[in-house]
This record gives sequence, structure tokens and C-alpha cells, in this order.
Amino acid sequence: MASLSLKHIYKVYDGGVKAVNDFCMEIEDKEFIVFVGPSGCGKSTTLRMIAGLEEITAGELMIGDDVVNDVEPKDRNIAMVFQNYALYPHMTVRENMAFALRLRKDLSEEEIMARVDEAAKKLDIAQFLERKPRALSGGQRQRVSLGRAIVRSPKVFLLDEPLSNLDAKLRAQMRTEISKLHKQLATTFIYVTHDQVEAMTMGTRIVVMKFGVVQQIDTPKNLYDYPGNKFVAGFIGTPQMNFFNATLKRDGEEIEITFANDRKIRVPRECLVKAKSKYLDGKTVVTMGIRPEDIHFDEDFVKANPKTALDTNIGIIEALGSESIVYCELDPDRDSISDSGTRMVLKVDPRITLSIDQPIRVALDPARIHLFDHETEVSIMPRVPDVNILEGKVLAGKVDFGGVKFALPPAFALADGKYRFAVPSDAFRFNDEAEEAPIAEGDPKYVVPFDAVPAEFAKKAFVGAIKPLAHTDFAHDHIGGSVEVELKSEETIGKIKLLRFAFGDDPVFAIDNGQAQDGKKVSTDIDWKKVSIIGADGKELPSLALTNVLHGKMVKERTGKKDFNFGLDIAGKIFYSTEYVQQKLFNAAGRKVFDIKLDVDFDPYSVKFADDGIEAKVKRISNFGAESFATCLVGEEKVNVFIRPEDKVAAGDTVHLALDISALGIVEADRGIRII
Ligand code: ADP
Repeated sequence: MASLSLKHIYKVYDGGVKAVNDFCMEIEDKEFIVFVGPSGCGKSTTLRMIAGLEEITAGELMIGDDVVNDVEPKDRNIAMVFQNYALYPHMTVRENMAFALRLRKDLSEEEIMARVDEAAKKLDIAQFLERKPRALSGGQRQRVSLGRAIVRSPKVFLLDEPLSNLDAKLRAQMRTEISKLHKQLATTFIYVTHDQVEAMTMGTRIVVMKFGVVQQIDTPKNLYDYPGNKFVAGFIGTPQMNFFNATLKRDGEEIEITFANDRKIRVPRECLVKAKSKYLDGKTVVTMGIRPEDIHFDEDFVKANPKTALDTNIGIIEALGSESIVYCELDPDRDSISDSGTRMVLKVDPRITLSIDQPIRVALDPARIHLFDHETEVSIMPRVPDVNILEGKVLAGKVDFGGVKFALPPAFALADGKYRFAVPSDAFRFNDEAEEAPIAEGDPKYVVPFDAVPAEFAKKAFVGAIKPLAHTDFAHDHIGGSVEVELKSEETIGKIKLLRFAFGDDPVFAIDNGQAQDGKKVSTDIDWKKVSIIGADGKELPSLALTNVLHGKMVKERTGKKDFNFGLDIAGKIFYSTEYVQQKLFNAAGRKVFDIKLDVDFDPYSVKFADDGIEAKVKRISNFGAESFATCLVGEEKVNVFIRPEDKVAAGDTVHLALDISALGIVEADRGIRII
């Protein structure tokens, strides 16, 4: 039994194929995870990296509490089941199953036989134990290879397309059996398939991949109901979701959707309440998606939903027995044979008699409409909305959002007038307590620049010469100015609570970090540094960049015949790096490590004014209420620094910046690989 943690995992094959790109996932003990996606999307490569059969280019793989990047496959306590069974043809089933156990040499022959018999019973292959694999059917062989995995009682089962050599009927049967086996063994399973039906029926969570990039990780139901992009929407579900180019126009409490040959439907705004307002202008083309099963033919539904009803003709009927798939064409000048962007596919009860060319009236379920950006294909009504676009009237340092007023911080000294505010849903705050300081006093978290390290540290430098700075107090006050707002609704999504308010006529979404008090009204304020503002003249005041990036490289200094110090040159200043950082860099880049360009990133709280460090010039001070930040220039690069109570800085000052090395992110710039 084991949990797994995949942190920024990359695989670049010789020749430069980036097969897996920044795979991040936490897998809990006993989960049944399915990796699914079209051929070549990187599923098997990821599985093989977990198994230890493929080297990890960059990133960290943990099984349980151990980092296993460099652990031999046989020592990872996992078992892998392959598509082609990989049985030894000259051995009996019993010998095949006992083989790995015999190699271990710590089990008696009786114990081995007991385990083999038990596994054989579980898999219903006890009667074949003395046969050779060639005397078994495909399904029976796959059971033997499962048995060979079970006898080892591994912590993790890895299965690579185990059913794809079987015929459809057997595949369906084995699906159920593998699910049953997972329950019985109560162990973590990771299963690779290109078949979305297998994924949907077996996985507790599914990872959808494309071109080496994870598209979405969620439960089967959530993937089906809330696909995050058009690819996931199209990949999950058969027949495929219908997609149409469409425009959306807000009209009071309804939204008019125009699509497919100028067809118009109207849906309650409530159904699309999460749709971003910039798409509701009646002009911007979006992709509308509706699943065949969400277009209804039955009379009651059509009568109840006149505003989403459409008249069309039946083109093709595919009678599949349990359902009929009907192809219709919304443009009378076209036929429904080819997908022309106006073809609509629906699922119909097979007991209904239908004929080709028959006119029908259908209605779309307004609550099951999906919308995607036409270019990026990303959902424009994500389950957890990322940002609220709000119209606000500024008057005397206050902003009025449809009657809800907030005081603006000094950083936004706006002239009176109308502005548009982009307020991220995670910018609302609900408690007045100061945030916990992430580091304790004296915590050796800060690394001082290279030349400031005393000689006695020099030897230890290889493992990170760390010298605490005097002040590591990070506490910063909460931003002031709470306002009471009425709660319209709340929704729990995974570990997140999503609150909905209304500022005037506009819905506003806010992520609650578990601190909002219960009740009809909540008291909230806005973390203004996350907000960007657009004036009537179109000029944008951007939000404060919370990720700083500086260029760097790895350097070495000879300290003896065979002794070196390794360091990180960041913007021309050398910092000691920890052994952890060095190892990651060596793993990813090998001997080229001193030649590669690095992008070093860090947040404004992980950089500090110090006596020595990277030289910078303070360009601007921004006061967001209780928090202030200095925007500094390091050469051409901007770096935002949180200003602590003891800091005395003003625009125009020359300062020195020390970095919290343990909090740095490092990206290999040319290949775009996150190393840390
Ligand atoms: P999947 O399992 O999703 O079909 P794979 O993980 O097998 O995909 O492959 C992902 C990508 O990596 C593909 O483009 C494939 O061609 C490439 N690839 C796989 N193995 C190798 C290899 N040994 N050398 C070079 N490229 C490889």
C-alpha cells in the first residue's frame, strides 16, 4: 500500500522528443488511477518512469515517503502487468507465478506455493496451474500475468494496456474483474489505456493526456460533467460531444446563443452564470458543446424547454440496439453525412420509430451546455472561476461595485471615473488574523551570498553553506477594510469552497480558504495586489507580479585538487546552492550543467533587502494597505520585493537583494524544463 507523488516530472528522449511535460500529481493510497489519451501522448512513458524502467529527465518521484528516482525497479516494491503478458513459455503457470518469489530467496517453498495457490484462487485459474501458457486463452494468460504480480504483494500495481489484446466481450469481463481485484487487494493501481470507456468504468480518478501534457485530472463524473477544455470534452463520451461555433449575447436574465446557420436559442443566465462576461458581447465567437444525450426528443422535455427547441430533419439513423444515434443537419442546404459544423448528433430511445428525412423537434438541456474559447479551446466557464471582471465607479478613493464599496489602497491612486477591475476569485479574504509566519525565528532558511560565507563553512559548502540571517520574521498583517456582502450561494468543489455574491447585477465568485463565517452575510475584503484595473481610455494598471524571474547558471570553484564548490550565479552574484539543488541540476543536464541557461523564479516574500546580494535599483514603492512592495530593477529585469517593517527603502535607492535559496524555482530555459 502506498501513496505516490509526481512533482514536475519530465521525460526528454535522446533526439529531443519531450514525451512527458511537467507531470504533477499526488496519488493517494488505494486509488485506481487511469492514464488515458491518444497513442503517443506519453502514458506509457510516465508509467515506465514510475516502474523505474525509464530514467526520469527532471522532477521528483516519491513512493510513500521515499524519493525513488534512483531506486532500482526491483527495489521499488511495485509490480507491472504488460499488454503482451510477458510470460515464460517454457514454464508452467505455477512456475511462472512462483518465479519472482523464488529469486527473492527469503521465502520457503511452502510459503511460495501457498501464495501461488491463493492468487490462483482469487483469479480463478487454479485449474490451469500445471499448464504451459500456450495452452491458455488470451484472457487466461492475462490472468496469469496478474497472478504473477499479486503473489509479490506489491505496494503499487502498474498495468500497461493489459486488455488490448483481448476481444471486446472478454475485455468487458476482465474490466470488472480487475476492478474487483483492486477492491480485494486494497492497493494503489495505475492503469494505462487509450480507451476512454475503460478509463471511465475503472478509474477512481483519470488523468487525460495529450502531447505529453496533462489536460485534466479528475473523477470520471467530473470529467464528463465539467471538461476543462475542448479536447477533454471530445475525448470523454461516445458519440462525441457536438461542437458548434457560436456567439453569446446577454439579455437581462437570459443569454441568447446564436449558432449553426443562425439558429438561436435562449438559456437562463443562471445556467451559464460562470461564463466569463467578456464572451457575452454577441460578437466573440466561442465553441459551444452539447452531448448527444443532452439533446432531447421526448415531447414533455421539448414542451418544457421551448426556448432551446430546434426544428430539424433526420439525416442518418444508426440503430445500436440499446440506443439509436441520429444525425441531423441544422442547415437545410447541407446533408448530414459529413461534419460541416452544422451537423447535430443525438441519442434517442430505440423504441421510438424514426425514419430518414422525418422532421423532428428537439430541445437542448440548457443546464448541460459547455462553452470553450474558440482559439485556446479552454472552458470559458471553469468550475472554479479564476477571475471576476467587474465594472466599478471610483469616487474619492473608494470604488463602488454596484452598491458594494471598498476603499482603494494608496497604490491605486485613481482619478474619479469608471474602470474595469479584474478581481481573481482567490483575492477575497475572510479573516482578520495575521497570516502565520511560515518560518520560525532563526530558521536557517536564508543563504547568504558566496563571498560572505566564512572560511569554516567552505568545506561544507557542497551540502549547502547555510547561515541564518538575523531576521526571518515573515508575519505580515492582513489587508484592512472589510465589507459585508450577501452570500448568494456556495458550492464545495474538492477541497475548495466557492462562494457567490452579487455586486449589483454581476455575479462574483470567491474562493473561501475555510475562513468565511457561516451565515447569509460574510465579511470580506480584497487583496488588491492581485487586482488589475483598466481605465476608460484602455490603459491597464497591472496587478503586482507575484513571480519574479532572474537569469542564472551553475558555476564551480576549485578549492583543492579534487574539491569543488558549486554555486548558483544569479544575475551575476554567486550564491551557494544546496546539495539538493545541485543534484537536481546534474540529473537533468549531466555534464552540460555549467553551460545551460537557467531561469530562477521566486515570489516577493522569498527575497530580502540585505547588506550584500544582487545589486538593484528601487524603481517604485506600491502600498496595498498593510502590505507594501518595492519594484526593483536588476539590469532590465523587474523584481518585486515585500517590504518588511525594518526595511527603509525609497524609490531611487540602490539596494542589495538576498534570496531564499530553499524557495527558488529553477527552469532550464532552452528546453523549458522545470528542474525545481
Ligand atoms: P503512449 O503510451 O501514450 O502511446 P508513449 O509514452 O509510448 O505514448 O510515447 C510518448 C512519445 O515518446 C511518443 O512521441 C513516442 O514516439 C516517444 N517515444 C517513446 N519511447 C521512445 C524512445 N525509446 N525513444 C524516443 N522516443 C520515444
